Amino acid sequence: MPAPTNPTDIARETLRQLMLRRIPPTPDHYAEIYDGIAETPDDERVPPLMREIDRSLHALPRQGQEFLRLIKQMRQSARLGEWQDVPPLVIRAIELQGGQAKLAMPWSDLVRELVRLWDMRNPLYTPTRKQETLERVLIHFSNESDLLNEKLAALLQAWSETSGETSSETTGIGTSPDIADAPPSTALDTSDTAWHDWREAVTQALELGVMPTLLTHDAELAEEVRQISNEARALGNEHDLQKWLPRLKKLWLKIELQGQQERRLSDGLLSLLRLLTDNMGELLVDDSWLQGQVAVVQEIMARPLNMRLIYDAEAGLKEVIYKQSLLKHNLHDAQSTLKSMATTFLDRLGSLSASTEQYQEKIRQYAAKVQTADNPATLKFVLDDIMHDTRTLQLDVLRSRDELVTARHEADQAQQRVMQLERELREVSEKVREDQLTGALNRRGLEEAYEVELSRMARQHTPMALALLDIDNFKKLNDQMGHAAGDGALVHLVQVIRELLRPTDVVSRYGGEEFVLLLPDTDLEDATQILQRLQRELTRRFFMHNNDKLLITFSAGVTMVQPDEHRAHAIERADHGMYRAKLLGKNRVEAEPASAAANQ
Ligand code: GH3
Ligand code: MG
Ligand code: MG
Repeated sequence: MPAPTNPTDIARETLRQLMLRRIPPTPDHYAEIYDGIAETPDDERVPPLMREIDRSLHALPRQGQEFLRLIKQMRQSARLGEWQDVPPLVIRAIELQGGQAKLAMPWSDLVRELVRLWDMRNPLYTPTRKQETLERVLIHFSNESDLLNEKLAALLQAWSETSGETSSETTGIGTSPDIADAPPSTALDTSDTAWHDWREAVTQALELGVMPTLLTHDAELAEEVRQISNEARALGNEHDLQKWLPRLKKLWLKIELQGQQERRLSDGLLSLLRLLTDNMGELLVDDSWLQGQVAVVQEIMARPLNMRLIYDAEAGLKEVIYKQSLLKHNLHDAQSTLKSMATTFLDRLGSLSASTEQYQEKIRQYAAKVQTADNPATLKFVLDDIMHDTRTLQLDVLRSRDELVTARHEADQAQQRVMQLERELREVSEKVREDQLTGALNRRGLEEAYEVELSRMARQHTPMALALLDIDNFKKLNDQMGHAAGDGALVHLVQVIRELLRPTDVVSRYGGEEFVLLLPDTDLEDATQILQRLQRELTRRFFMHNNDKLLITFSAGVTMVQPDEHRAHAIERADHGMYRAKLLGKNRVEAEPASAAANQ
């Protein structure tokens, strides 16, 4: 007889078997025989109590992987009759349903911490990396809230451990001020292998991973890495560790900044090279120009790269290129004058020889007439004609001679002019003080103005602010609207600056789209406000290009010039502020106090 498949038949057969085998009809016995007849797979054969528990638990809302795993374990224990294991598993499963589970970090703290660390700069976790790691956790654990909580808390801890700022209060990494300020605490167990391995890993990472890449670029920073690594080796107790950790964080920040500087450096170098190659095509005058400009770049390459050096070279080349294009035009004029002189000369030579030929022909005719002349009167007429023609020829010759002298003189002058222009061309970068495009002072002009203002500042005991501003997304404007629009925008910006600032303020073009302003008799707060007013003004006064309204914004750093300070220092400080303004989202002004530079 085939095994019944219909539940009613199975039930009937079960009862029959119970009777036949004289087994007491308890629920457990019934279930056992029923499952045997129905051929229920092993893992589904659970005692009825377990089935009840199972049904109740399956009615709960959260059925994550961990939850299902717990149920499976319960069924296993129940099938083996190990009922003592079941209650803790049930409790754990119920805890998973919410609230009760022990979270690694309360959700509200976790979200707050996530938002805070998301914006915090971190050399190891760039924004992209943060996003990637966060997405990975969300994809894998979004169905299990407690695991998600645990993984997110671990992720935040990782972010905060390497972040530039101490963030221990919420993450418990151990740099909390109360610990750091505590009296020397218990010595760490230095024989502990984990502690030893950790120190080994840190010093190796610093000395083998970080230091070599820095050695070629920044020996000072490399030395600092070496020091911090040596200190790590000597760390012996918790207190020292807490003092050492912030130093390590500061070092990461510095290294990150250095990396950013290097990126800017290579961008600068690239645009310099582009400028040079663009200009090669334009070279007409003579090869020494080309050689001179190549020499500038070679000289820069030979020295350790420095942004200011590149800016200087770029500004210098731009002036030369501009002036060269002007002079090229003048040279053309001078050369065509020379050419026309030569043509006149040849014309005159031609007509002179033609009139000489005519004269000789006439002389021959007159000679014939003289021989055939039969009376003095005829002879006199012939002689009069000869005299007349000779005089004409003489005048012709004289006129030609005068014209030739004039032509030669003009040719000499043109030649002189060519030489003069060539000389000027050679000297141009020494002489120019003004930026040709915008009319603002150029770097050389700024150098002079800075010296003048610095000594005025010393004489009158007044403060002086210096601002460095850089147009935002200028490359995009150039790319989208064309170079001419970019040039127009620069001119517009200088115009607005000039109108808004006082006549005593100094406006100079420092690099491509960077400007340095000197604001005598102005303190840091006022200078910041002036720059912000300038930003507002630019939002009102659009730059018009081919009937398009273009909004120009800039980011700026402002700082106070210190007595007797070299301009490069003050500019560098303002540059830090400007760079921070860029990092913070552009179109803003950042004040850089003079004392900040000392910590850099
Ligand atoms: P950011 O907001 O970060 O400053 O970006 P940006 O695009 O302004 O800066 P970046 O340094 O990448 O580009 C500056 C561009 O300025 C590149 C160069 O083509 C352009 N530029 C420099 N000098 C001149 C100039 O005299 N005329 C024009 N039209 N463009 C210039
Ligand atoms: Mg720039
Ligand atoms: Mg810019």
